[in-house]
Amino acid sequence: MGLGTITIPEVAISFAERHPSEILQFALENYEGGIAISFSGAEDVVLVDMAAKIGGKFSVFSLDTGRLHPETYQLIDKVREHYGIPIEIYFPQASAVENLVKAKGLYSFYKDGHKECCGVRKVEPLRRALKPLDAWVTGQRHDQSPSTRAKVAVVEIDPVFSSPDHELIKFNPLANWTSRQVWNYIRENDVPYNPLHEQGFISIGCEPCTRRVLPGQHEREGRWWWEDQTKKECGLHSGNVER
Ligand code: SF4
Repeated sequence: MGLGTITIPEVAISFAERHPSEILQFALENYEGGIAISFSGAEDVVLVDMAAKIGGKFSVFSLDTGRLHPETYQLIDKVREHYGIPIEIYFPQASAVENLVKAKGLYSFYKDGHKECCGVRKVEPLRRALKPLDAWVTGQRHDQSPSTRAKVAVVEIDPVFSSPDHELIKFNPLANWTSRQVWNYIRENDVPYNPLHEQGFISIGCEPCTRRVLPGQHEREGRWWWEDQTKKECGLHSGNVER
């Protein structure tokens, strides 16, 4: 499946102002059988909810880094049961985790940055998850990170996980939605969410690398807070940093 003669930039322009569910429907119809929704946060459950309402079959995958909060694991199963869908979980390679922990301990990211650990626990499993796909769907939004996500298009050629012989398309149907729009949708549609959001967490990743934010702080300040504010991507969307 694919778009035929229409180019991705043309689709991005024509769908830039469309409702996220229209963008998602376009994605699921045009890449049927070769597309999956990546699930980790509140935005992704909104996308799952929209896909369920669109109807038809759709695939969802998630990455278990081994360092998630218990509440996040519970959310994964809650979403599975709520929508009656399978969620394919990808785990890191045991030997890679063992080697990293043996060499540097369990908290090396506080000393030399998150890139190495994210590479082992997130990026490699994601690469495996994306390998059989022609397109994936993410919950990226512009206002999640003004320094890295402000220019994200509703659809783009994945700059990180495409290869010379395999172009991978990345749909970001919520790119133009604000956090308020996401949470209005969650409330109006009874979408399951992580209970940590009720305790001051906004952007939720791995437990050691996520903290609550204070009123007025940007959500991204709760992630990898010991690092440079302009480089807060874990490798899944590292193409944003290089823009
Ligand atoms: S977010 Fe933290 S614990 Fe999770 S993979 Fe990245 S560095 Fe490791």
